[in-house]
Amino acid sequence: MAARGFVSLIGAGPGDPGLLTLHGMEALTAADVVVYDYLANPVLLAHARPEAERLYVGKKAGNHTLSQDEINALLVERGLAGQRVVRLKGGDPFVFGRGGEEALALAKAGVLFEVVPGVTSAVAAPAYAGIPVTHRGLASSFAVITGHEDPTKEETALDWSRLATGVDTLVFLMGVGNLPQIVEQLIAHGRPPDTPAVLVRWGTLPGQQTVSGTLANIAERVRVAGLRPPAVTIVGPVAGLRDHLHWFEDRPLFGQRVLVTRTRQQASALSTRLRSLGAEAIELPTIRVAPPDDWAPLDSAITGLSNYDWIVFTSVNGVDHFWARLSAAGLDARALHGLRLAAIGPATAAELQAYGLRADYVPGEYVAEAVASGLGEVRGLRVLLPRADIARPALADLLREGGAKVVEVDAYRTLQPETDPDELRDLLARVTVATFTSSSTVRNLAAMAASAGLDLLQALQHATVACIGPITAETARELGLVVNVVAEEYTIQGLVAALSSYCAKRKT
Ligand code: SAH
Repeated sequence: MAARGFVSLIGAGPGDPGLLTLHGMEALTAADVVVYDYLANPVLLAHARPEAERLYVGKKAGNHTLSQDEINALLVERGLAGQRVVRLKGGDPFVFGRGGEEALALAKAGVLFEVVPGVTSAVAAPAYAGIPVTHRGLASSFAVITGHEDPTKEETALDWSRLATGVDTLVFLMGVGNLPQIVEQLIAHGRPPDTPAVLVRWGTLPGQQTVSGTLANIAERVRVAGLRPPAVTIVGPVAGLRDHLHWFEDRPLFGQRVLVTRTRQQASALSTRLRSLGAEAIELPTIRVAPPDDWAPLDSAITGLSNYDWIVFTSVNGVDHFWARLSAAGLDARALHGLRLAAIGPATAAELQAYGLRADYVPGEYVAEAVASGLGEVRGLRVLLPRADIARPALADLLREGGAKVVEVDAYRTLQPETDPDELRDLLARVTVATFTSSSTVRNLAAMAASAGLDLLQALQHATVACIGPITAETARELGLVVNVVAEEYTIQGLVAALSSYCAKRKT
């Protein structure tokens, strides 16, 4: 018998990628094919295996890429073909997601399936807007209602007279277009016009927008604000709690779209921090790390390690590549016996620690000049520098001036990734902050922009430019950029801290 397929109907949550369940994540990482639509955050797709097929089936009002019947048929077909299928749906699959129809089609065809509930926007969007859907003394019940039906139509399936007064909190999905009619029906059926009402658009996402008012004025306010779908509408006394409980939009980087230019491997540490402060992190790797043209210099340095007094590591990548070659030579930490190790900053020191090595020296200021002066008397000492092919010569020069015998070896190469000119233009246009974590990130972005026919200065004209330290800032200035933020501590934490206090100051 052929392998039996399996379809997971997964609730992707309302948008914030952190709101996917663990079970959903497990299924996603094992999938052969992921079928998704516009409400499921595309960021989640990065967790699928690289070779997994990704199928966008659309579904934005009036812009259906596949009809529901076609989606059902697709899931059945892939399931019968023996694939592990993930059907990723916004929010919860069984709350206005037509997940029930998909499950029925699978059941009928005899395809095994599971349903992984998700965090529905009906509860999460209010929560991120500071609205609890129930609250002691204010609301003992809530209803989730489609706003898609025109309530003035004869054949409406909704019993407006009961809904209007029978439930404390009303949450309408898909109700932006019909808002005036919804409000009118609620008031006509006895809901007081001064009942608080709030709309939350793109709830839980960095672009979350809210409009608050009462039944009497909310439709007009939404019209004036030009608020468009997707949004949930909350009606009831709890909506008034937002005045006291708003929190998501208050975070220091809320609303900022921050460009992260580090390598793909290193981006996530920065992106995660930015996101936790409310920013949207836009990753555009400007550096690709590759092995050096020739391993021989590093390999021979490794065979001759006993000849050195110090090894100075100036990057995490330097540590990783050094260690990889050490291991490839059949050696381990014992080969470093008797050597002293320096790390340019805490991240590099932490990477050494990950291999069980403690840095003997980490300067207080994380630049080459500080390392050189901190090693003490180096006259006659032999120093190994495993570093990037394009490293600044400052450190080696200073050490040599101090009388050290310095051997520099390429431990890795940094390359400039390819980009699509149109994508780059669109991406830079969206950015409100550009972060740079090394001189190479600035230079490479400028080069990438130039090869796409863009002027970086112009492209980043409206953006805040934030640099990890003075050297990077200097490079940015040399390229003509106006640098707004320079971290006081030259680390990722320092960069994020400096940026958030800059943005907080600008807000007030
Ligand atoms: N299954 C989904 C709902 C699908 S119906 C869920 O459980 O959330 C689509 C509607 O959901 C949209 O019209 C909008 O009303 C609402 N919606 C989904 N995601 C949203 C979000 N991030 N912010 C606001 N509303 C959202």
